[in-house]
Amino acid sequence: MIVVAMKQRDIFIVSQEGLNPQINLIAEEAIAELMACFPSYKDDYPITNLGAWKDENHQFTEKGKIYLAPYKSTEWHILNAKEQAKEDGRDNQLNASTLFQTMQQDPTNKTFPQFTVLLTLDDLYPSKDMNYCLGIGDEGIGCVVSVNRFLDHNNNLNVKNFKTVLMHEFGHVIGLTEPDRKNTEELYGTHCKNLLCIMQQRADGNYNSITESRLALKRNKIPPICDDCIESGNNFFAKERQNNHIKSIVQQTVKNFKNR
Ligand SMILES: [Zn+2]
Ligand SMILES: [Zn+2]
Repeated sequence: MIVVAMKQRDIFIVSQEGLNPQINLIAEEAIAELMACFPSYKDDYPITNLGAWKDENHQFTEKGKIYLAPYKSTEWHILNAKEQAKEDGRDNQLNASTLFQTMQQDPTNKTFPQFTVLLTLDDLYPSKDMNYCLGIGDEGIGCVVSVNRFLDHNNNLNVKNFKTVLMHEFGHVIGLTEPDRKNTEELYGTHCKNLLCIMQQRADGNYNSITESRLALKRNKIPPICDDCIESGNNFFAKERQNNHIKSIVQQTVKNFKNR
């Protein structure tokens, strides 16, 4: 079977209201840099920066009160996660798992197949028993990264580290560290063991050394991920093409059947 290159999904970058739009552009750059490691596939996944996205019908009024319509804006996802955080007694944070859940269930995914990259201003925590996380990402769905811990007292962003973590989380989205692959370890999810690869895990949240080696590699025009991760990514993209190709054959067959 010949499977040709064609658009598979959009990569949508969205952000919490109030986030400096400049940060979205930095995120766009980081994702493009990672996708450049997959020259045969990157054109199948156009990157679009939607900012603090909202549909034109994102609000509705009931009994004189204004509400946010479910799934119709990035802010709805955020407020939903904030409510869960309040219930958990974490007033200044967002529940990342809740964000992830609504991201996965979002009916917009059906109309616009996508990988969502959600950037938040508020700090994230993954579950009740963990203090915080920089971000999370899951294969085939999307990732959430908070800028909170990359900002200094003057609200200046540590661009280098932010990019490393965003690329790492997006790496999970495109299946760079499959379980049972060689040179991986289980440490808060499957991670790469190759030194000089941004898919390594840092249990202490300190990404400085990974960032330094990423930048050193970049100066020498070497990708930020190792050959094993590149191979995993290529496998992931090939599978997507294959599956969508089969889907389009099925749709075509159904269409032909209906037209008879
Ligand atoms: Zn990770
Ligand atoms: Zn790797």
